[in-house]
Amino acid sequence: MSAVTTTLMSDEPPNPNDHFFTQAAHAGDDADPPEGRPVSPPIYPAVTYTYDDMQDLSGVLHGERSGYVYSRYGSPTVSALEEAVASLENAEGAIAFSSGMAALHCAFIQSGITPDGPIIAAQDLYGATHALLAQIFAMYDKRPVHYVDMSDAAAVKFSIEHYAPRAVLMEMISNPLLKVPDLPQIAEWTHAAGATLIVDGTFASPYLIRVLKHGADLVVHSGTKYLGGHGDVMAGVIATDARRAGGLRELIKYYGSNLGPFEAWILLRGLKTLALRMRQHCANALRVAQWLSDQASISKVIYPGLPDHPQHAIACRLFRENSFGGVVAFELRDAGETEVFRFMEALKLIRTGTSLGDVGSLLVYPAQSSHYYLSPEERHRQGIGDGLARLSVGIEDAADIIADLQQALNTVH
Ligand code: PLP
Repeated sequence: MSAVTTTLMSDEPPNPNDHFFTQAAHAGDDADPPEGRPVSPPIYPAVTYTYDDMQDLSGVLHGERSGYVYSRYGSPTVSALEEAVASLENAEGAIAFSSGMAALHCAFIQSGITPDGPIIAAQDLYGATHALLAQIFAMYDKRPVHYVDMSDAAAVKFSIEHYAPRAVLMEMISNPLLKVPDLPQIAEWTHAAGATLIVDGTFASPYLIRVLKHGADLVVHSGTKYLGGHGDVMAGVIATDARRAGGLRELIKYYGSNLGPFEAWILLRGLKTLALRMRQHCANALRVAQWLSDQASISKVIYPGLPDHPQHAIACRLFRENSFGGVVAFELRDAGETEVFRFMEALKLIRTGTSLGDVGSLLVYPAQSSHYYLSPEERHRQGIGDGLARLSVGIEDAADIIADLQQALNTVH
């Protein structure tokens, strides 16, 4: 029992001077830690940490000893998550963020991109990533972002050699066209140019591929997707080497885009079933993609697990055996917005919503969501047709997902 509580109890003053306000403000502050080790990491909501010895506090503040002082600088539940992600990515360190976008922003800053130090980015990036790059440079005359099709090796090599970038950014499995870049090859060219390779691994997750092993310098995830897996937490994370992790830790102190302890705990719990969920996502997605390929009402199916996917061989080389991710893109034959919307509204099990990676199947129409910001001409140039839908295949029974697609397609054709 703490000194404060003992004094108050033994010295019980008569009312009204009974120290009740002080007692209420501090009762329970010094509860003893549990005897046994909890099997689930505790949630530490404390913002501030206090020390009996001021030298200890000052040592922590100045980075001379480990410990916590203020939760924007780090806190135990968030550290537990960071350790877990670093372990899953075989990385020296990981830093958690309040969202995938916050993580991407800090990855760009950390990589030193400036108006004079350009970035080469994949053409079919997540829309908000495109918008973020535009925002970062909006105040400058120069827009030093060069977009390239990451599946076109010659174009990637030319851009890296020609533009001398600070950083190269790509998605490992791109959104929404599900391209699979040849990571080791691009890493070699990037490093030969002295640049940093940032890989957004959100669609693949470390279950499919640990991209750092293949040459990426930073792997960024929207933890909101597969890592969390249940559509109930927004988070981002970067795994990288110790030096870059240290730099990001400093950045986040001042950007303030740190993750909260409750969110960190939910994400930690999600990670425990990542392998199981991904196995089911991948198995279901392959079945759905194969079924869609046989439908006359579907003109095109894009899935890295299908032999006719242009980078199927790269996916087989880089990804875990028989694992090609949980997202399938497909085009409804002779369809535009009206037909796709009718199809979407007819779905019963599959929900329509702009996310992915949840246990439940989710479908979006990229032309009206993730890629709305592109002009129709640019969308078509990139291969995002008016009939294209993107399905995040959930962990339900594959037969039920297929039956839902079937009945919804019947309403269109
Ligand atoms: N990266 C990819 C590939 C995404 O699909 C998304 C979101 O959909 C993000 C990053 C951004 O993540 P968040 O929504 O957690 O900020």
